[in-house]
Amino acid sequence: MLRLTDITLPLEHAEPALREAVLARLKLPAADLRGMTVAKRSYDARKRGHIQLIYSVDVDVANEAAVLKRVAAETRPNRVKVMPTPDTTYRFIAKPSPEQKLRPIVVGMGPCGLFAGLVLAQMGLRPIILERGKQVRERTVDTFGLWRKKVLNPESNVQYGEGGAGTFSDGKLYSQISDKRHLGRKVLDEFVKAGAPDEILYVSKPHIGTFRLVSMVEHMRATIESLGGEIRFSHRVEDLVIELDADGDRRVRGVALANGETIRADHVVMALGHSARDTFAMLHARGVYMEAKPFSIGFRIEHPQSVIDEARFGPQAGHPILGAADYKLVHHCRNGRSVYSFCMCPGGTVVAAASEPGRVVTNGMSQYSRNERNANAAIVVGITPEDYAEHDPSGSPLAGIALQRYWEEVAFKLGGGTYEAPGQRVGDFLAGQPSTTLGAVLPSYTPGVTPTDLAQALPKYAVDAIREALPAFGKQIKGFDMADAVLTGVETRTSSPLRLTRGEDGQSLNTRGLFPAGEGAGYAGGILSAGVDGIRAAEWVAEAMIRAGEAI
Ligand code: FAD
Repeated sequence: MLRLTDITLPLEHAEPALREAVLARLKLPAADLRGMTVAKRSYDARKRGHIQLIYSVDVDVANEAAVLKRVAAETRPNRVKVMPTPDTTYRFIAKPSPEQKLRPIVVGMGPCGLFAGLVLAQMGLRPIILERGKQVRERTVDTFGLWRKKVLNPESNVQYGEGGAGTFSDGKLYSQISDKRHLGRKVLDEFVKAGAPDEILYVSKPHIGTFRLVSMVEHMRATIESLGGEIRFSHRVEDLVIELDADGDRRVRGVALANGETIRADHVVMALGHSARDTFAMLHARGVYMEAKPFSIGFRIEHPQSVIDEARFGPQAGHPILGAADYKLVHHCRNGRSVYSFCMCPGGTVVAAASEPGRVVTNGMSQYSRNERNANAAIVVGITPEDYAEHDPSGSPLAGIALQRYWEEVAFKLGGGTYEAPGQRVGDFLAGQPSTTLGAVLPSYTPGVTPTDLAQALPKYAVDAIREALPAFGKQIKGFDMADAVLTGVETRTSSPLRLTRGEDGQSLNTRGLFPAGEGAGYAGGILSAGVDGIRAAEWVAEAMIRAGEAI
């Protein structure tokens, strides 16, 4: 097969136009084109009213080698747009050995733990997955308990439970990670097997929305179990068993659970997510190497989706191929901070994403249809470990958590102490005056929004930066700084505030057999990259087991 990239056609092109473009690019008679499939479809909306579709297509042609040679000879080397289709087949690296003594453990069943567990199970290594939260259906009830009844379950919520943080989400499935081995394709293939629509394999910004994610996660659980894996819900890991080996190296020998049980294991994947603050503290107390890392804080902003559609797509807004419009914005401020949009959810809702009592955190989600009235995104400011010192001068790698907790508590109080979020009209925020009512844009956050002064909800440098950025964003997207757009806060869980640093073999720098992975370990951001990191963690575990003679 050959892959042709950068085939550009108008949004409204007739169906045969793609085939004709392929034939023209390859200068082929129609009879020599035996078949073709779309490998990727994206759009270029830079010119409003003249949106172009951009295709990559895999083609089956007669005399493939000769065609490739001829086209290559006709094309300047830096303009190559025809190449052999890359081989994206995933190949397992290990098989079980009768010498396997203990089963590998995966802590956490978010996208990272799910894929680590799946790939270990597919290799026959029979992992045990330990998840502190509940099965996804029960978890849904608890999550709605916060959203509808203002009751938070600290062990079963948006952050904790089967499927992890991404289950109640927009289900965006793209990432900017470098992925030479096409592990992202393995993630998408498994999602399709579990019930995701085929289109996630070729559209440039696939998304699946919340309801589908719930049933996909259940499907993947069943697959893992059918392959000999075991999944235990409501099993919180509270401690690590660490011993010194014959070389004097610290080595994991098992995990201790909140229910008092200890499970022996020589290989433990830690796929905790960014919200497991108690578990980070335990790892720190046990001397596992970690360091503070930068992350971002800010607010959610909501606009009518129609404002974003009109600004981005103009007269072509509403076209079914385009769907609800998204955006990606960045502004570098005079105070040296950068403000950017994050986790944009077209046609979605803002959700309560707290996992600790007495704290408020916002995030965003949507359904597959993305047809809610508002567009939402986080508007966040990058912060670094120097900013955390104010909240924890000790220099501890946990200092970022102290900052998060402080501002989440402030938000809880500003919201009225009932899990309502503090909110403000953009017009009032820019004018430096508190909001007493909200305007034409109705916020979607449940349990509710309390109009207030959000300048009190973040550090001054962040408030100043966001005040400078919003009008600048209004120049890129007409209406972005409209007075009635709504800000809610606070957005503090953009990524992990620390890194559980690992070496090239995937193991903790100072604790053998411990494989930190995914977003909480500081090695992923988003569902796809967490899934990819889970696959790599499974491979590192398998390699370690091969070295120990426990796998072949
Ligand atoms: P998590 O998904 O956080 O999973 C970690 C798991 O570990 C949790 O289930 C937790 O209960 C468990 N755990 C923690 N501590 C312990 C312990 N001590 N013992 C046992 N289990 C434990 N990303 C996207 O790419 N697209 C989106 O559209 C998107 N939308 C989002 C919307 C919301 C509301 C949220 C909250 C996040 C969203 N994200 C999105 C981010 C995405 O969900 C995360 O990047 C991703 O889930 C990280 O995967 P992970 O497996 O590393 O961690």
